[in-house]
Amino acid sequence: MNETKLPATRRRDLLKGVVAAGGAMTVAPPAAAAVVASCPLPLDAGARRRLARALKGRVIWRGEKDYETARGDAVYRANKPPRYPAVIVLPENDQDVVIAVRFARDHGLKVGRRSGGHGWSSAHLRTGAMLIDLSRMQDVEIDAASRTLWTRPGVLGSYINSMLTPMGLIIPTAHHPTVGIGGFAMCGGFGWNSRLWGNGAAHILAVDVVNAEGVLIRADETQNQDFLWAARGAGPGFFGVVTRMKLRANVLPKVMKVSAYGYTADHLEAIFTWARELVPQVPPYLELVITSTAHDSKTGERVPVRFTVAALAICDTDEEADRALALLETCPVLAQATFRVVGKPQTLTERYLSGMAADPPGFRFACDNMYTNASAAELVPRLRDLFTDLPTPHTHVFWLSWGPVKPFPDDMALSVQGEVFLGAYSLWDDAAQDEAMEVWPVQRMKKLAELSVGGQMNDENIARHPQRYLSDEANNKLEALRERHDPHGVFLSFLRSVT
Ligand SMILES: Cc1cc2nc3c(=O)[nH]c(=O)nc-3n(C[C@H](O)[C@H](O)[C@H](O)COP(=O)(O)OP(=O)(O)OC[C@H]3O[C@@H](n4cnc5c(N)ncnc54)[C@H](O)[C@@H]3O)c2cc1C
Repeated sequence: MNETKLPATRRRDLLKGVVAAGGAMTVAPPAAAAVVASCPLPLDAGARRRLARALKGRVIWRGEKDYETARGDAVYRANKPPRYPAVIVLPENDQDVVIAVRFARDHGLKVGRRSGGHGWSSAHLRTGAMLIDLSRMQDVEIDAASRTLWTRPGVLGSYINSMLTPMGLIIPTAHHPTVGIGGFAMCGGFGWNSRLWGNGAAHILAVDVVNAEGVLIRADETQNQDFLWAARGAGPGFFGVVTRMKLRANVLPKVMKVSAYGYTADHLEAIFTWARELVPQVPPYLELVITSTAHDSKTGERVPVRFTVAALAICDTDEEADRALALLETCPVLAQATFRVVGKPQTLTERYLSGMAADPPGFRFACDNMYTNASAAELVPRLRDLFTDLPTPHTHVFWLSWGPVKPFPDDMALSVQGEVFLGAYSLWDDAAQDEAMEVWPVQRMKKLAELSVGGQMNDENIARHPQRYLSDEANNKLEALRERHDPHGVFLSFLRSVT
């Protein structure tokens, strides 16, 4: 969550971009594309044509028209990874996915899967593989009476909520409007009121999956439970293509209010010591975050690092919201706040716009993260560099009070959490800075490694920082299930190397 406001014209442009492109950006092909395009494709022209003829949807082999646009559209960030699938499949329906997976299995192609394309590491984009991009499958069916819905995984979370909220329902989605519901929920998913209602993964009731045999199966509490367990948090480690997911919805609370306070970096130690000690008191319907960034929200120009302590209360009464938000008034440097917004009513659209302002389309991005249970005495002296030494104006660092921690049930792969979440996000626009900016968040998190209890899969950067994203037990179970359900390794798993 971020209180940054974009100028009205820029906000309109961003929203137009979201609607037109589902958040995806296209780019000019990098020079390396020409080199890869000249490498021989793994299959003869006849086999390639057979796949295209068999599908209702689109099949684009490397070197064909629109390949580079489709490759670029499969990744939200502007620093498109130099990885070139042999073929990109854009299915229109379940049968297309079945045909594509069978073709891949029969011809020795590994399969990557893309829902909304916001996975920071773009684990779905691999050289020589088949990329199944589910963005053309967009149907959502809501059963308001049972408070459940079936959705395609490539549907934007914000779009689902735009359908649910008029019915008095809501699901946790990413705070950014263009993130797909598929990757969000399958990686764990910290969204609206997740401390109260549970993570995105905990909202998955069932999934339709094309498995490694190329068979469409349903996984729910009564059948194929291994697939349901893995869909709830295994992220890129999942051994199938999810083509539909059934989600539980929550009753839309009546009140949504935000408070935000600005501080200079002088008060860093006081603010984080207070925030760390406050964690046990933060009610589950309050999302308390601290962000640092260094750009002017109107011009984008670099300014001295500033902190925003902000909290969003989503609950049923003004009294509950105001009581929870009053916690922010206990900050010991409150009198030094550079601005105050107190108990401002919010709409969900305003919250999505705020999320988009923090990570606008068009930027180059990299991230890394960790959970920690370290005490204020251990943690706070280590935070100054992380939060104040920001390499570009839009780079931001994020603290989320996630505790008091409720243990995750063991019917989900999702299994790592800690009392405080720290995320570092570098944003830049000059390709010459790519290497330096891509390693910056990782270097910062690695410096705190001994305080980490593991990372959150949604913001994973396994290739550069192979930390613990699942508990040892869940990780062992996942590896055993993948061996059982995908013994020939049809599906790509976690990205272990950036090339
Ligand atoms: C700007 C921005 C803001 C974000 N904000 C939040 C936030 O507020 N809270 C939060 O929790 N996370 C947030 N995230 C992280 C986001 O939730 C994850 O990156 C998530 O994986 C993105 O989902 P997606 O469907 O868009 O991505 P994708 O890139 O399509 O999916 C990510 C990975 O999941 C696997 N996968 C996806 N779809 C399928 C499928 N149908 N079947 C099998 N495997 C599949 C693939 O391995 C894929 O590489 C944010 C990310 C960005 C870029």
